[in-house]
Amino acid sequence: TIGLLTLDQQGNLAAACTTSGAAYKYHGRVGDSPLIGAGLYVDDEVGAATATGWGEAVIRACGSFLVVELMRQGHSPTEACRLAVERVIAKNPDYRSIQVGFIALDKLGRTGGYCIQPDFDYAVYSPQVDNQLVVPPSKL
Ligand code: ASP
Repeated sequence: TIGLLTLDQQGNLAAACTTSGAAYKYHGRVGDSPLIGAGLYVDDEVGAATATGWGEAVIRACGSFLVVELMRQGHSPTEACRLAVERVIAKNPDYRSIQVGFIALDKLGRTGGYCIQPDFDYAVYSPQVDNQLVVPPSKL
């Protein structure tokens, strides 16, 4: 999945995502990416989140909605993503064989991410920084 979370200079949040699709999927499968609340969710009062990985697990957890609700409760974007990943892990005993990751952006412009498997990076662009930064979530 490619997910994009944005905050403009007026403080408006917006987001989009597109899926690469799951390998060997059966005809008619609907992944998490087109389902609002699963692969993508934005609440302009709180923040935005998007997911990548095994869509079925993301859907069952209402993953992106969960991340935004955790930020609403006061968690940072990274902590919200980590807690959502823990929810996915709790519901999937075979979690070692799957990947699910989330990235998040809050109303203050803070970013975060977390995933089950290592080697999950995301890029942050800010006009103040004037370039792209790759931020490994595990180091936040
Ligand atoms: N999340 C997508 C799906 O399950 C796969 C991906 O593009 O990461 O359909």
